[in-house]
Amino acid sequence: MAITPLMPVYPRSPVRPVRGEGVYLYGEGGEKYLDFASGIAVNILGHGHPEYTRKVQDQVATLMHVSNLYGSPQGEAFAQRLIDNSFADTVFFTNSGVEAVECAIKTARRYHYHHGRPERHDLITFTNAFHGRTMAAISATDQPKMIEGFAPLLPGFKVVEFDNLEAAIAAVDEHTAGFLVEPIQGEGGIRKGSQAFLEGLRRLCDEQDLMLVLDEVQCGIARTGQLFGYEHYGIEPDIISVAKGIGGGFPLGACLATEKAAAGMVIGTHGSTYGGNPLAMAAGQAVFDEILVEGFLDHVRTIGDRLRGALEQMIPNHDHLFEGVRGLGLMLGVKMKADSRAFVTHLREHGLLTVAAADNVMRVLPPLIIEEAHVTEFVERLSEAARHFEVDNAA
Ligand SMILES: *Cc1c(COP(=O)(O)O)cnc(C)c1O
Repeated sequence: MAITPLMPVYPRSPVRPVRGEGVYLYGEGGEKYLDFASGIAVNILGHGHPEYTRKVQDQVATLMHVSNLYGSPQGEAFAQRLIDNSFADTVFFTNSGVEAVECAIKTARRYHYHHGRPERHDLITFTNAFHGRTMAAISATDQPKMIEGFAPLLPGFKVVEFDNLEAAIAAVDEHTAGFLVEPIQGEGGIRKGSQAFLEGLRRLCDEQDLMLVLDEVQCGIARTGQLFGYEHYGIEPDIISVAKGIGGGFPLGACLATEKAAAGMVIGTHGSTYGGNPLAMAAGQAVFDEILVEGFLDHVRTIGDRLRGALEQMIPNHDHLFEGVRGLGLMLGVKMKADSRAFVTHLREHGLLTVAAADNVMRVLPPLIIEEAHVTEFVERLSEAARHFEVDNAA
């Protein structure tokens, strides 16, 4: 048999982690890696965080799962904590980012249905977007590598150019339910939507009673130095999806909505067997116990500035390889003149973990608990690896 036990949909690298400690991962053969990828923006407290680990362990021993047939003191408490710290009035818990996006799409459609406008079912989405891999989520993108061979896609999505307010305005018609947008695109190459773009979408939604749905699966949960990405813009969305960082490594996502936006999500309209189970809630609470501590977001901003500054300082030494740094907080992207995928592979051989993205960008997504010494180590070793990459390429 030629097929691998794991369905071969990923080009898996030779890095094979078996243990983690803080900002470091250890491979099968004892190799040590500085982890500035965090499992793609997930392990925001690093690996084996003592308090987080203890709280999750305690919950495993107490109660893991009961289903949503019963009352959930754990879910109510964590939902309330999210509500107290956001625009939202209500929360649906999921097991992944794409399920949170799915719930957001359904909530937006159902809002218009509830108000007697079932024909308003289309979401306007944007070029280079990434919303996950279910049929609905791939139907919301225009990226050939994600949709090829999976036709027919779901109707109800219209893709226009990212960060182009005029194009978004022009796309609105009698079928529009709202907009689905990452305020700061992740997979698309760490691209930040402009203030005018996000503000303009908000205004349009207010004027025409449309839903502003933000996909904050990557940029939410303290990654950018604010708890949520939308806070950078001084606007409030109607619905958001979050995941990645929220569980600190435990599979957890959430769809947050205002009371108004969730008008159609009544009994029987949606569900999940695992969603929001006691173990997931303990993981989410353990993450929030850390990120809501006074000074935590300041730390993300300060150390993010340090990392960005150090990267910018290094760039002139390798200016045929790197073009510049983009992003916010610890959601950073280095725009490359070389192939970012090849460079990320090269870094792994040098014990550094980062993540490639579209547009020849290398994503730098460390745990949010990194210190000055990790920044120094990362940039020194990156610079060293860059020298070798130049040599390798010249050879
Ligand atoms: C990662 C990501 C998703 C999908 O999350 P999964 O947990 O892989 O389903 C959706 N939207 C954005 C913006 C993401 O970065």
